Amino acid sequence: MVRKITPASEDYSQWYTDVVQTAEMADYSPVRGCMVIRPYGYALWENVQQGLDRRFKATGHQNAYFPLFIPESFIRKEAQHVEGFSPELAVVTHGGGKELEEPLIVRPTSETIINSMYAKWIQSYRDLPLLINQWCNVVRWEMRTRLFLRTTEFLWQEGHTAHATAQEAREETMRMLEVYRDFAENDAAIPVIPGRKSDSEKFAGAVDSYSIEAMMGNKWALQAGTSHFLGQNFAKAFGTQFLDENNEMQFVWQTSWGVSTRMVGAIVMVHGDDQGLRLPPRLAPVQVVVVPIWKSDDQRASVMAVAQDVTQALGTAFRCRLDDREGVSPGFKFNDWEMRGVPLRIELGPRDVEKNQAVLVRRDLARKENKSTAKLEALSAAVGEQLEAIQGNLFAQASCFLQDNTSEPQTYGALREAVEDGFALAYWCGSADCEAKVKDDTKATIRCIPLNQGKEPGRCVCCGEPATEKAVFARAY
Ligand SMILES: [Zn+2]
Repeated sequence: MVRKITPASEDYSQWYTDVVQTAEMADYSPVRGCMVIRPYGYALWENVQQGLDRRFKATGHQNAYFPLFIPESFIRKEAQHVEGFSPELAVVTHGGGKELEEPLIVRPTSETIINSMYAKWIQSYRDLPLLINQWCNVVRWEMRTRLFLRTTEFLWQEGHTAHATAQEAREETMRMLEVYRDFAENDAAIPVIPGRKSDSEKFAGAVDSYSIEAMMGNKWALQAGTSHFLGQNFAKAFGTQFLDENNEMQFVWQTSWGVSTRMVGAIVMVHGDDQGLRLPPRLAPVQVVVVPIWKSDDQRASVMAVAQDVTQALGTAFRCRLDDREGVSPGFKFNDWEMRGVPLRIELGPRDVEKNQAVLVRRDLARKENKSTAKLEALSAAVGEQLEAIQGNLFAQASCFLQDNTSEPQTYGALREAVEDGFALAYWCGSADCEAKVKDDTKATIRCIPLNQGKEPGRCVCCGEPATEKAVFARAY
């Protein structure tokens, strides 16, 4: 039998772990805090990578690779950076059987080592902008870990760009935030709130940090991608300079931006239900599964022949799998693929073969409304239409959920109540004291200050002082 998944309403955290493990996406490793990404989870990550990588290249970026190890002295060069990362650093002190002259840091992020190279590569304004991305692993020593969401080692991409002017770097910061929003909403079917981070939540070493924030199934927030305007902080620390058009030396202006394997956790938590995963068709490792149904050997021969033809034909346009396992019932297969979140199932029985048709079953709809039939000659077109509809419906469902669970409290009492069960969009005066008070009282933090908001002034929900912007307050992963 398919392993039982704890209902989300009973224990959301256990539900998440059950789904990730039962669907064979990831497992715990012998090293505390690290995870093993299994083939099904990795196939989903590969599709995330492809969706992002395509967009990076379309916006002029190239991939490169920098070392895993960073000399300890590099990390110390930018004061805020080292302060922000110190407690999380893994340090290598020995190599080749000897104590190293200078310890090496296992990269928590690569601003420093990349700047040491950019300082060499960039000479003149003609070398700018320099637009590089790296796909790699990073290590941040975490005390409390959770598969995909927070692990000591994780996979990600980190973009690092250098520009001649602050304005160009700021434009790049926003361009990549928009790339992340576009990917999250159109490929992952996850509605997000793009916004600016408060000072207490921004990246160590950045002038300004921006993020896309998504609402998980338990109404907590998850930061699904970040884009930072670094100003000249790292350029000054590493002497990353160029000769401008007037033959004067200038420091470059920089950005960095990243999306990690957390995105996989977000996909699980935004779309999953008590049956297991529900994957958006654009990212699903298997988009369509064909399940043949028969009782007698005669039926088996004719059904299997058609099932193989159908799988082959659909395979030219879709990621399609034939489930020809022996010794398990069709019902078992239905549950199994539902649990794995395959968007569309095609059932093919003896009567369907006689009628030259197949039954299509959607994963995103309730049991009574999820079935339709299509003639075999029109199957490919029907599958394409259904997958598009599923992609759109998952986004619509998640958008309604976000909207229904976001409130705009006007008083501090209402804010305290609101963040217990959703996002609260409320005026904030900008003071760190008010931010800290909310966190102490409710455990909710400022997730971001949304970019798209009205300009009419109001009063801080915490202290009552004049405020010009609203912030999203929420509990967060
Ligand atoms: Zn205030």
